[in-house]
Amino acid sequence: MSGAPRPFPSGGLDSCDWDGLRVEEARQRMLQTLTPPGPPVMVPLRAALGRVLAEDVRARHDVPSSTNSAMDGYAVRSADVPGEGASLRVVGQAFAGHPYGASLAAGTCVQIMTGAPLPPGADAVVPQEQAQHRGEVVHLGPGLRAGQNVRLAGEDLARDQVALTAGTRLRPAELGLLASLGCAEVRTHRPLRVAFFSTGDELRSVGQALGPGEIYDSNRYTLYGMLQRLGVEVLDLGVVRDQPDALRAAFTEAAAAADAVVTSGGVSVGEADFVRRILADLGEVGFWKIAMKPGRPFAFGRVGQAAFFGLPGNPVAVMVTFYQFVLPALLHLSGVADTRPLIIPALAQDRLRKKPGRTEFVRGVLAQDPAGHWTVRSVGRQGSGILSSMSRADCFVILPHEGGTVEPGDTVAVQPFAGLV
Ligand code: AMP
Ligand code: MG
Repeated sequence: MSGAPRPFPSGGLDSCDWDGLRVEEARQRMLQTLTPPGPPVMVPLRAALGRVLAEDVRARHDVPSSTNSAMDGYAVRSADVPGEGASLRVVGQAFAGHPYGASLAAGTCVQIMTGAPLPPGADAVVPQEQAQHRGEVVHLGPGLRAGQNVRLAGEDLARDQVALTAGTRLRPAELGLLASLGCAEVRTHRPLRVAFFSTGDELRSVGQALGPGEIYDSNRYTLYGMLQRLGVEVLDLGVVRDQPDALRAAFTEAAAAADAVVTSGGVSVGEADFVRRILADLGEVGFWKIAMKPGRPFAFGRVGQAAFFGLPGNPVAVMVTFYQFVLPALLHLSGVADTRPLIIPALAQDRLRKKPGRTEFVRGVLAQDPAGHWTVRSVGRQGSGILSSMSRADCFVILPHEGGTVEPGDTVAVQPFAGLV
């Protein structure tokens, strides 16, 4: 399970065909090289929320532990209550946590509350509303079925059954499930530490005045937000100038402090050569041209012991490449077994122009038509620098590699942002 890096698959700019690497292929290659950094740790149940199980968890006992009532009513032997109903003597009561202490004799019944164990011999519960209690006798209405309103021991989980598998991310439901098994602590992968920084001589941080030709560094904020949402520990290393010494120092510091390093800018053709030389010294990094829009240039590999993701500089490309590559890769590194995104079909409302031979990610807005079908509309201008297009959108429309232009009414694949962590 632990962190010895596997050999990095070749696949730099030069080894791709001129159109670039397919999105699915790039994702596949990345996942193949990444293993969660070890070792897993035992954590108390509450602290495990959002973490990823490092081993299967088996039920130590049946859940529920005993056969019990699903209703307030009367526990009976179904053989005592024929189709037309019957009158039975009430011999006692059973409450959750306070069982009736004996077996049920023929011709008798026990008043029972939800969650109370069924007395041995009883095999059905008649709800309160279908019973008339007078003195020691209760009259039970017609239509009883054996087993009705009874929860069987082990019907949720049987003893020794695998209740949760390694690679499961622990949500509130899993925390409750583990508690129902009596687990006070669980073995989980430790949270990832991810360092990130922006590169570019033109960048200023918020709070500083802009000089001519300068822009504010927005990528560090989108990256911060996306990483924070993912639940990893983030380390913000700021803006790094396009200077060899500064870049070398930043890469070295980031790789020493984190399990993964994410940068933006400096990977487009003009700048890549410069960064490539530094990274070649520090690790193993391939500069990939990916057959996608937006977000063509992308660098992936290893710096020191850390996984490295070099995203393009354009703000929309940063978000698209993060969600399509970095997110599944970081989930995988966190130990998550299933990193497939949520994709739903929707009816396109607009014509979406598209060239075959690359995957395109159009920013869209989902809605439902009067019949309840999902529809999707483009947010309009789609330039890779137009960050407001991401802000107006609530999904990506994924136009597949082979496909061409989409016409209104066509069914398209949509990835809702709500599914992205
Ligand atoms: P690059 O990939 O470094 O050539 O950058 C591509 C484009 O994205 C240029 O217009 C940059 O000014 C812009 N850009 C790069 N980094 C950032 C950033 N951190 N925030 C906003 N824009 C950026
Ligand atoms: Mg740059």
